[in-house]
Amino acid sequence: MKTCRRFTSIKSGFEQDIRFLRGHAERHQGSVAAKTSAKNAVSAKRNMARALNRHLDHCPECG
Ligand SMILES: [Zn+2]
Repeated sequence: MKTCRRFTSIKSGFEQDIRFLRGHAERHQGSVAAKTSAKNAVSAKRNMARALNRHLDHCPECG
């Protein structure tokens, strides 16, 4: 599948977030903050899927 630059930038933005949250969760394992970060990483991943699907629905370049 061919995707446009906008798609790539949406994806990499979310991926950066997810990486940061996961890293934070690992560094603070066992703490409340780590649990929050892990949960946020999961929801960021879900948001990414939603944002990318929405993009694909509307983008004339992707598909
Ligand atoms: Zn696109």
